[in-house]
Amino acid sequence: MKSLRIICAFLLLIAVFCSCSLDSKYSSEFFAMDTVMSVTACGKQSETAVNAIADEINRLDRLFSVQNKNSEIFRLNSEKQLNPSDETLELITRSIEISSMTDGAFDITTEPLSRIWGFYSGLENRVPSEKEIKAVLPSVGAEHIKIDGSTVSLDKSTSLDLGAIAKGYSSGRAAKILEENGISSALISLGGNVRAVGTKPDGSPWSVAVTDPDNSSEQIGVLSVKDRAVVTSGGYQRYFETNGKRYHHIIDAETGCPAQSGLKSVTIVSQDDTLADALSTAIFVMGLQKAETLYNDNNDLFGAVLITDSNEIYITENLKDSFSSYHSYEVIKA
Ligand code: ADP
Ligand code: MG
Repeated sequence: MKSLRIICAFLLLIAVFCSCSLDSKYSSEFFAMDTVMSVTACGKQSETAVNAIADEINRLDRLFSVQNKNSEIFRLNSEKQLNPSDETLELITRSIEISSMTDGAFDITTEPLSRIWGFYSGLENRVPSEKEIKAVLPSVGAEHIKIDGSTVSLDKSTSLDLGAIAKGYSSGRAAKILEENGISSALISLGGNVRAVGTKPDGSPWSVAVTDPDNSSEQIGVLSVKDRAVVTSGGYQRYFETNGKRYHHIIDAETGCPAQSGLKSVTIVSQDDTLADALSTAIFVMGLQKAETLYNDNNDLFGAVLITDSNEIYITENLKDSFSSYHSYEVIKA
């Protein structure tokens, strides 16, 4: 499963760094947050900045990881009450806001469900019984998280997993580090989370591929972007198969089962990395119709490329000028 994610992480990206003079370009690849990450930057301070980003992401991983016994999230999940760092508090608060923005489709309390489906390393993937799912569902939902000043408390059986938003937050932090180092041309790829910083060194926009969900070595189109996060969530990224049926890792908190909304891939484009990450997961759960409503209300905040189970492609109107594809597609108007 991990190897598939690694391949996907590489294939999502088409980066062309032709005109950056060799001495000012620096790239690094590292493994964090359970995925392969890479950063390539152009500019005098590129080496310093890229190394600082790797350190920063490892630091954030130690705060947000659901499995690292020393992380703040792990401690909160075991002790049910914690005064976390400002950053963890900020990300939990933001997650709750996005839960209400998406009518609960985005839900960081799905941890016990991910657990019974065996989606954590060290566990075995399995299809839980209906009884098991029913037993867990009452502790799922943002209403089971209380924030009082800087104290976060969880109801007795509630646990958090920031896996659908932590990489987005981290790529926002990475972009900030590049900016602080005066870098105006870089490409960050944290698994399926891409951040295009500025333009390519020649001043043209970055090209980010939208992967074909049925064949991750192919693409269904390309987005031309400057200063944007481009984040994809799909059922093809992490899954297991039993009796010919595929079960992926994005859970619908209403059913307790892998989401079946009729979408197989959701790519979000936004200036806000954290929002892009959370919305790619949320819209994957919500499906096409609810995505249209969300876009209508928030077309200044994000754009989307959606691929349905029957291979139709939809793009939001605000991406009309940045998306190119050999396939035909429908445009969702605001
Ligand atoms: P990935 O991190 O694999 O690129 P996502 O950003 O879509 O993909 O996040 C999926 C992860 O988020 C799951 O592995 C799980 O930890 C968690 N998760 C699963 N379902 C939900 C949900 N409905 N809302 C928020 N987080 C979820
Ligand atoms: Mg996500």
